[in-house]
Amino acid sequence: MKKLAEVLRDWEAVIGLEVHTELTTLETKMFCNCRLSHDDDPNANVCPICLGMPGALPVPNEKAIESIVMAGIATNCEVMRHSMFYRKHYFYPDMAKNFQTTQGPVAFVMHGHLDLEVSGQGAKERPDSTVEKAQDGSYVASIRILRIHMEEDAAKMNHVGGAEGRIGGASESLIDYNRCGTPLIELVTEPDLRTPEEARLFMEKLRQTFLTLGISDCSLESGSMRCDGNISLRRRGETRFGTKTEMKNINSLKSLHDALEYEICRQAEVLEEGGIVYQETRHWEPSRRRTVVMRVKETADDYRMYPDPDLAPFDLSDEFVERCRARVPELPDAKRDRYVATWGLRRSDATQLAGDPAVARFFEDAADVTGAKVVPTLANVMVNLVPSFKALTVAQVASISSLLAADAITFAQAREVLEVVDGTEGDPERVVDERGMRQSTDTDALGAIVDEVLGRCTAQVQQYRDGNRKVLGFLVGQCMKASKGSGNPKMFNQLLAQRLEA
Ligand code: ADP
Ligand code: MG
Ligand code: ZN
Repeated sequence: MKKLAEVLRDWEAVIGLEVHTELTTLETKMFCNCRLSHDDDPNANVCPICLGMPGALPVPNEKAIESIVMAGIATNCEVMRHSMFYRKHYFYPDMAKNFQTTQGPVAFVMHGHLDLEVSGQGAKERPDSTVEKAQDGSYVASIRILRIHMEEDAAKMNHVGGAEGRIGGASESLIDYNRCGTPLIELVTEPDLRTPEEARLFMEKLRQTFLTLGISDCSLESGSMRCDGNISLRRRGETRFGTKTEMKNINSLKSLHDALEYEICRQAEVLEEGGIVYQETRHWEPSRRRTVVMRVKETADDYRMYPDPDLAPFDLSDEFVERCRARVPELPDAKRDRYVATWGLRRSDATQLAGDPAVARFFEDAADVTGAKVVPTLANVMVNLVPSFKALTVAQVASISSLLAADAITFAQAREVLEVVDGTEGDPERVVDERGMRQSTDTDALGAIVDEVLGRCTAQVQQYRDGNRKVLGFLVGQCMKASKGSGNPKMFNQLLAQRLEA
């Protein structure tokens, strides 16, 4: 198969995502008072409503509707004041009612967008001729969101006696209704995405947004956030869309990217050989890095959708919408901008820190401890050091950042210290003192060492004066050695340069 870059020169990829998110942070299900927990014993959290007993009456969960309205506001959607629930009929044991309660043509929130900043390696996937790129190759893609509607999740089926929990070859299927009736929001994008990287970034940004709102734990791995990728190709310059396939079983951001990449290349091969792409659902197999057919769509499904007579239509008040708006916290983009404006952080660092609400909170707590001057160093520590440790405390990270900012230790020493204190209450300052790491920043003492080194390295001094600036590194190394590592390399660098330029 051809490589992605080659395919995307001739073909344009058209991608749309459908993202289901369980509102895991709520206490109860969508239409009943059953506890929302998937960890309890199977079928412990069930009642006549979520089991669909005749005559049981559903009552909508107000908090779930608050959550979806917040999700809509955070993704620039319009809040639809009038909407209602529909019944979508199908027969399958994962829904004892034989219909799923969902929304019809009008969803709670519609017509939004998320803007993606695509940069670095990922930006190269998009041919330059199709988008306006900045000098560094980055560009902004605005992805429209068609709607976010409210529905309920189905029961979890566990297929046993076969391979990999798949239904094919299984001897029995066990049903756990604990998940049945879990509030679920489904977001549908317009087919505006053009590369696997854009799709990956969209999912990442959506996940960060929902995490910041606190409406879900957003785990792709455990399935509380699930994403289907729809993908078709068309020749560059063609205005009509091609036939799409839909990909399921995507349980990480990397899988989403890789599955789309594979599928783009597969479709290109089919089309270039004169074949046709069938409208079908395909399953991504991460271990074999390919997609396989799950089912072919032959006719439109007939779900007999009609308004649910048990649930009154909604008429959202100004007061309700404003209450939801007030509950939307500072979102990742605004947080990033504030970090850049307040502390002069690099945009890439600020983006990374602002994306995950837990990381952002940790960072801001540490910034309170260190004070503003140390914050750029703190940001560097958060991005480049902290992720490789298990359980550092705010105090430890603040302390190591202050030591680095004061040039008392090097970055390599900081890593060594954090290895010692990780998972304990240990104080980095004490470790630095105990190990005699503290570097001297005493200009007189360091100056004497510099003079000694310059006195004996006459050849290198001459090379420097002849224009070979690289020997400065060698001279710094000599100074470090002479000070037995106790001198500060940045200071040595400065003192050497001063004397050599004099
Ligand atoms: P279906 O009826 O098959 O579910 P929809 O029209 O509801 O299809 O669209 C589902 C998703 O597929 C949406 O995200 C939409 O943007 C995307 N989509 C629609 N048509 C195409 C296409 N030709 N190529 C790629 N994605 C598409
Ligand atoms: Mg659809
Ligand atoms: Zn129930």
